Amino acid sequence: MSHVMNTYARIPLAFVRGEGVWLWDQHGKKYLDGLAGIAVNTLGYGHPRLNAALNARIASGVIHTSNLFVIPDQEAAADRVAKITGLDEVFFCNSGCEANEAAIKVARYYGHQRGIDRPEIIVFEKSFHGRTLATLSATASRKVQAGFEPLVSGFVRAPLNDLAAIRTIAANNKNVVAVMIEPIQGEGGINVAQLEYLRQLKAICDQREWLFIADEVQCGVGRTGAWFVYQHAGIAPDVVPLAKGLGGGVAVGACVTGNRAKGVFSPGKHGSTFGGNPLACTAVVATLDAMEEYSLLQNATNTGRVIRDGLTQALQSTSGFVEVRGMGLMLGVELDRPCSDIVGMALDQGLILNVTADNVIRLLPPLVMTADEGRQLVQILSNVIRTFLARPVAAAASSGAA
Ligand SMILES: *Cc1c(COP(=O)(O)O)cnc(C)c1O
Repeated sequence: MSHVMNTYARIPLAFVRGEGVWLWDQHGKKYLDGLAGIAVNTLGYGHPRLNAALNARIASGVIHTSNLFVIPDQEAAADRVAKITGLDEVFFCNSGCEANEAAIKVARYYGHQRGIDRPEIIVFEKSFHGRTLATLSATASRKVQAGFEPLVSGFVRAPLNDLAAIRTIAANNKNVVAVMIEPIQGEGGINVAQLEYLRQLKAICDQREWLFIADEVQCGVGRTGAWFVYQHAGIAPDVVPLAKGLGGGVAVGACVTGNRAKGVFSPGKHGSTFGGNPLACTAVVATLDAMEEYSLLQNATNTGRVIRDGLTQALQSTSGFVEVRGMGLMLGVELDRPCSDIVGMALDQGLILNVTADNVIRLLPPLVMTADEGRQLVQILSNVIRTFLARPVAAAASSGAA
């Protein structure tokens, strides 16, 4: 019996070797990776640049020292993250939920500084912000929350892409201090906030002096062809929580602040023992360097277009196919029925992917995926989807208990 706590319904496969966008399981079978460990493995597997940097850091003997001392790798990583975000200050942590916890604390502290004793944050329907108590309270899913009440208070929920709803909250609630939004919702089904909506939402934040928090934990760090989705909209947020792809596979998160949120925290307000240690920050610098050196933002745009156009073309006349949506290499393929069986069917054909929100196939490949590898993905996936949709609906409906 496994002693690992029973918190995941795991697929009985173990990947034991990786190279580029390819993985091999314990039986020697080869797979094309359309998931990147859930948007984490930015550079794929075994990237020489990341490997060399991590090996050198380990060889120095110093992989952790603590935040009681200056950490040169952390200074370098913060410089790089400030540059690509256009913001000023970086708090390093170890995961996405921690980055969001820091963001929530910044927003509350900002509120208290302005005389608001019970600050509230606007969050969205279908959002996902993490599994800690505050972040699961901010998350929209009842499945994530049920059984963990009492929830953390101080969140007001609004529908996505609906400015009138935000204006109504603004008119009735004087305790709002911030809006926290995923510019592209990941777990919720690859739901894209309209760029004009983001600009208008930012304008309301500016009018009301609310913080604009862009949770780019999943969609950020180059995945959509820009460093960050808010840059597609041409806006400058106040707080940007990051994690997933930031360390190329090494656990690291960051809460980045600027504009109205600059300087909110001072010594003693927040902390993390592991956050920003030399190993994690070496991974950040090497990942960002490699992304620039290999033009991976441009690659995400190019290969993303190949996959999006390829799937749309292959499936447009297939009944049961709804649409492909997303940006760059963050794509969702919506079907008209629950489709969790697609995961196993794709694995049988040597393709790794994920299904979220019941009926959305989620693609988050490594940003090093070439156009040719993208075409291979399209071929495998479009065949799997056609086979799946050709099954009697009753058979499809009875699946999905993953
Ligand atoms: C994954 C995710 C999180 C939580 O990240 P963890 O590292 O699992 O804690 C938060 N926000 C978004 C948008 C995510 O996709």
